Formats: sequence, C-alpha cells, structure tokens
Amino acid sequence: MEALNLTPQNWPRYHGFVSADWIEGTSYRRFRRYDMTLPLPTQAIIGQVCIFIVLTPSDNQIFFKCDNCFRQHQPTNLNCSMTVHRAHSFLDKTTRLFDFKTQQRIPGRWKQVGIETYGQSRLTVETWKCVHIN
Ligand SMILES: [Zn+2]
Repeated sequence: MEALNLTPQNWPRYHGFVSADWIEGTSYRRFRRYDMTLPLPTQAIIGQVCIFIVLTPSDNQIFFKCDNCFRQHQPTNLNCSMTVHRAHSFLDKTTRLFDFKTQQRIPGRWKQVGIETYGQSRLTVETWKCVHIN
C-alpha cells in the first residue's frame, strides 16, 4: 500500500467530513473513505484493506445517541435517535460496523490495523482490514 504522507498541511479537515460511509457500534465513530474515488467494500474478502478518515463524535452525541448526523448533531434530522429522544440506538448492541445510510451490518469482520493521529484533531486516519468472512 502506498504511504499517505500525512502532514499538518494536508491533514483531513473537520469541516471536510461531509458524509459518512460506515458507523461503528457502541463508539458511534463515523468512517469516511480516505480516497472517495475508491469503491467501498461491499463483500467480505479476507485481507481486503480500506483506509478511512474516522470522526469521533462528542461525548454528548454518544450519550444522547446521535446516530444519523455525519458530523455535528442536526436537531432537524428526524432520522437521528437524539432528535426523537429514542432510548435505544441500533448502535448500542455491538461493536460491529454498519452502513451509515442503510444501518445494515457491514459484511465480514473488520479490524483496525493502523492509525494516525494529529494533535487535538477529532479525526484519525485508520487502516482497516477484513479478517473474517462473517
Ligand atoms: Zn444527530
């Protein structure tokens, strides 16, 4: 895999996190492909790797179950459990990954195999690998 050569100058910007591909159970972390020109994995293929920009939401978002807003909580988003004061979210039962839009579980079991951080940024750049087919 080619090196990303991340620097403070090209570190992903919070306001550039304008959509999400996957979301992680219990942590509520949002995943966005680092390279949006690459397709999102749709099948579980062992060894398959994908690099993501990962946004860790605020403690408030996690506590009140903000599960459908890609970045900050949007009080007008009626699909968000936080907006409608839902007691439970689909994210609460498992640490598995879900499709952000459909809320369907991502095929396969994925494992974080690399992480890069920068200062106080809430974004990390993470490499994930499919390690099991179900
Ligand atoms: Zn929300």
